[in-house]
Order: sequence, then C-alpha cells, then structure tokens
Amino acid sequence: MDYARSGSVLLVINDHLCNIDKLNVLRDSVALEKLSERDKKHLWHPLTQHKTHPEMLGITKAQGALLYDEDGKEYVDGISSWYTCMYGHCNPFILESVMEQMQSLDQVVFSGFTHEPAVRLSEELVKILPKNQQKLFFSDNGSTATEVGIKMALQYHFNKGQKRNVLLAFEEGFHGDTFGAMSVSGLSVYNGPFEDFFIEVERIPVPTPENIDFILAQLKKRLKNNNLAGFIYEPLVQGAAAMKMHDAEGLERILALLKSNGVLLIADEVMTGFGKTGKNFASEYLETQPDIMCLSKALTAGLIPMGLTTCTEEVYMAFYSDEKAKGLFHGHTYTANPLACAAALAALELLQTDAIQQNIKDISEWHNAFDEEIRNHPQVANTRQLGVIYALDLNVQMERYGNLRDKLFKHFMDQGVFLRPLGNTIYILAPYVTTKFQMERIYGAIRSVVGLV
Ligand SMILES: *Cc1c(COP(=O)(O)O)cnc(C)c1O
Repeated sequence: MDYARSGSVLLVINDHLCNIDKLNVLRDSVALEKLSERDKKHLWHPLTQHKTHPEMLGITKAQGALLYDEDGKEYVDGISSWYTCMYGHCNPFILESVMEQMQSLDQVVFSGFTHEPAVRLSEELVKILPKNQQKLFFSDNGSTATEVGIKMALQYHFNKGQKRNVLLAFEEGFHGDTFGAMSVSGLSVYNGPFEDFFIEVERIPVPTPENIDFILAQLKKRLKNNNLAGFIYEPLVQGAAAMKMHDAEGLERILALLKSNGVLLIADEVMTGFGKTGKNFASEYLETQPDIMCLSKALTAGLIPMGLTTCTEEVYMAFYSDEKAKGLFHGHTYTANPLACAAALAALELLQTDAIQQNIKDISEWHNAFDEEIRNHPQVANTRQLGVIYALDLNVQMERYGNLRDKLFKHFMDQGVFLRPLGNTIYILAPYVTTKFQMERIYGAIRSVVGLV
C-alpha cells in the first residue's frame, strides 16, 4: 500500500501489524530449515563449483574481529572478510557516520551533480595519497577500479594520438574479474573460456635479486617498440597469488625504466591500500610513483562497496579538451554513492588515529614473534611478512593432506578460525582491531596444522 498517501495513521499501523504477522508466519514456516539448506534452492555463489562444494555456512552476526554462524559458533575473521573490514565488523563509529549521512542524502546521480561526502572524501584522500595523485574517479568495486585504470591508460595515449595499445602486467597478478581486469591478470585455468576475447597483454615475472637484470635487459629490448600503454602491478604483495611478496628494489628499477619510456604506471592497491603493508599505501615503499592508482576493499571498511581510481594531473589533462569525445565516458549508476563516501571518510579518520596506527605496529610485532617460532619448522617451506600481512607455505610433502586446501580450511573452521588457505599457503590478514587473544587463536590453529601442539 502507499503509506505516504493513505493519510490514516491507524491504517498504517494496522497494515504494519498485519505485515509483522505475515513475517512471523513466514519465519515459523522456515524456522526448521537452516540458511545453509535454504541457500541451495536459488543461490549461485562466487568462485564456487557447486557440485563439489555444495555447503555454504550461514553467518548471522559479526562484531569486531568475530563472525558468528547460525548455530552460534564464533570464528575469528583472520582475513578481514577479504581484506575489507580492517577496523572491525559493525564498527560503531563507521555505522554512526553512515546512519547520519543516510538521514540527509542517500543517493544522487554523480554526473552533473556533486555532494559533500564525495568532495570531503577527495579532500581528505589527497592528503594521504602519494603527492602526485590529484584526480579521483569513483566506481563500485576493485575490478571496476582497475578497469577504469586500464581505460584511462589506453585512452590517455589515444587522445594524444599515440599508437600504444599493449598492456604489461606481472605473470601471477590479479586485478579482478571483469574483462579488462581478467585480461591483465595472470593466466588462470578459470579464465580459459574468455581468453580469446582479452585485450592485448604481455607479462613479466616479478623481480628477484637473481632475475632483475635479465628482466631489465628484456624490457629495454621490448621498449624499442613503443606500443606499451601501461604497466599494471600490485606493488610488493600479490594478494590472490597467495600473498607472494617481491622486493621494492627490483620493482623500483622496473618502474623507473618504464616511466622514462612513457609507459603509464597503474598501481593496483585494491588489496595493499590503507595501512596493511605498514604504510598507508605500498607505493610509499617506492621512489617512482604511479600515474594511476586503483583502490577498493578497505576503502569503505567493509560496509558498502566502492571503487576508486586516482590519477595525476597530467593524466587528467589528456582528457581535458573542447572535444567532448576526449572525456572519459565511463560511469556506474552508484558512482560516489554518498553512503559509501561517508563510510570511507569514517574509515580514513580511523586509519589515522594513534590507536589504529598502534594496532598495526602491534600486529606486525606479534607476527614477527610468531614467525621466529615457526619459520624453521620442517613442515614450513617458507614464510613472509609485510605490515599486518603474514603468509607461510607448507611443505607439500605432507602426504596426509590429500585435498590440502579444503582440509586446512575445515581444520581452521573447526577451531573457530576463519582462514582461507590458497593451495599450500596459509595467510593472515586480520582486522587491525584483532586482540592479542584472538590473534593467538589464529596462531594456535596454525601451530596445530604443522604439528607444533
Ligand atoms: C580483490 C582485488 C581486485 C578485485 O576487486 P573486487 O572488488 O573483488 O572486484 C582487484 N585487484 C586486487 C589487487 C584485488 O585484491
């Protein structure tokens, strides 16, 4: 019914009561069936082969570093629900900021209009972004953030009349699941059906002290043909490649060489951004700064999806013209949604508090101590750490783990710890607000895997 036009409060109340009754009846009828069962009827989950993995766990509540399932069992969220809710689930400060914003402006078209949360967010973000990042383009998620970055790089050269149409990327990078983002990601068996439709991409290995001279020599040869438009990279930590880390020195030399040859640098900091590496952005470990940056995930603290692509004044100016078609004609319906901007503003404020900065230092130290203890264990092949990101590879000779990844996952969940192993890699990327006690639960679960307890 149309409440606004009914004019009768009583009617509204009656109707409301009636709806509540209906809801209760509905609830009773499904009460016996668990979420995990009801789920199977209509839902199709991401990154899932439903035939071999039919079971989804119903989660009903989250608070701080904890998740609760429909049976009331508690789990430490050891990966911050894919690196988003770094300030804790249902963080009251962030919830309040968004609730306040939603009383005044919920959503408005961002083409032709602007609003306070977006303007203020741009002002606050440029204060902590690398100095050369001056223009901000909003979208909806990490994939669209990189998609926009790729389009910016390609059109930048197009607008300047340069025939640069090939992108460069790292072999095992991950940049998202839309077409452009998939194209620049490392080749994966999952992308097979789409490979014929990809944009043109060439790949280089991540730098090591051993291969860096070879990479640079190959690149110098390759650069004689100046058709490279841009280089997209996850600086220092490749998330989806199982938190693989490479050294800043080698990356710096690659970036400097490409930059001096007019190849636009696109730093995909969707995962590494906002403090996880111990600095606000991983790019701060490098001297050569990106021309374009892609952000998402922790940007909005896990509350509302949002993507952001930032760029230099120089990139922006290649689109600034009397010719309409030189503009960036890309847009999403929810671009710069005011609620998402409010969440991002609150998150940014939290990130810069002494308390969160101290949390980041504490977690880094705890990881350090844990690493000392575990890295020489025979079941541990190698370990790595940067900021609050910690990863270890298990020695895969451990025959008893047949279907290793699934067994590890179950083992951790049984112990009330949510970790998402990638192959033989176990990694931790828990919220900044994780307590020592909660982190100990994560360490304890890992100790038990390698047989330390
Ligand atoms: C997660 C991720 C993406 C994709 O973000 P979505 O929001 O999942 O589309 C892109 N790049 C990196 C480095 C990521 O970690």
